[in-house]
Amino acid sequence: MRANSLALPKVVCAALRTKGRRRGISGLETRRQCHQQLSSVSRIQNLEFVIDRCRCRGARALCALVVVAPLLGGPSAARAGDSVWQYSTIAALTAGGYNGDLTAGELKTHGDFGLGTFNALNGEMIVLGGQIWQVPASGRPALVADTVRVPFAAVMRFEPHPKIAVPAGLDLTALSALLDTRIGDLGLIQVVRIDGRFPQLKARSVKPQTPPYQPLSEVLARDQVVFDLVNVHGTLVGFRFPACFSGVNAPGWHFHFLAADRRSGGHVLDLVTGPSRAMLVDGF
Ligand SMILES: [Zn+2]
Repeated sequence: MRANSLALPKVVCAALRTKGRRRGISGLETRRQCHQQLSSVSRIQNLEFVIDRCRCRGARALCALVVVAPLLGGPSAARAGDSVWQYSTIAALTAGGYNGDLTAGELKTHGDFGLGTFNALNGEMIVLGGQIWQVPASGRPALVADTVRVPFAAVMRFEPHPKIAVPAGLDLTALSALLDTRIGDLGLIQVVRIDGRFPQLKARSVKPQTPPYQPLSEVLARDQVVFDLVNVHGTLVGFRFPACFSGVNAPGWHFHFLAADRRSGGHVLDLVTGPSRAMLVDGF
């Protein structure tokens, strides 16, 4: 369902399903109310929702998103280009919500392009071309079985878009700034696929955790493993969420990398671009 929020300074915050129980939040809400709702639901693990045409606008404005298909019964397969499908929230993940009920097999039914992590925080996830890759602390990607469980992921159905030339020599900040100049509306969710060569790419993964789980900041300080990749070819999977989604997903650009030879990857901490091509999906 394509919401009409593009034309309306109105919002719907979310409607969520938690472990099969439907929970709806709808109607016009201020951003504060929206945040309150999101902060309340973000404490619930294992929720899923579809973000479809959302936007943030100014101080009074509203982050608009609608959740649809899961609440209407039946599979919530997103149509190409229409929506971002997400399971759980970044707030739940950063608080230590490292176990989910979602299987990799089900995640594939919601999108073929995306990023996330695995139960027990066992490595970084890259969803590319309908395959789900896991980059564990060893740094070596592996395809995951459909039965592997996931605590957090965001995916969409990616279709080819006009290619934007990315110049060589950009670091992550400059690359993000370049992409921002090509975005029509910074209040919308953006998705990008960048293919190319990267003279330098600093990626990370995380060692799997054991309960009781500690907050993500503590885990990263202790168990993050960094890979300094040199002259790698591959693909960046990038999502950019507006600031008003800070409890839902990470604000700003967030990239995961998978090498073309499938021998390296991870969550991107920094990089230097070589000649590359970006396909930007401008605005959800
Ligand atoms: Zn990441």
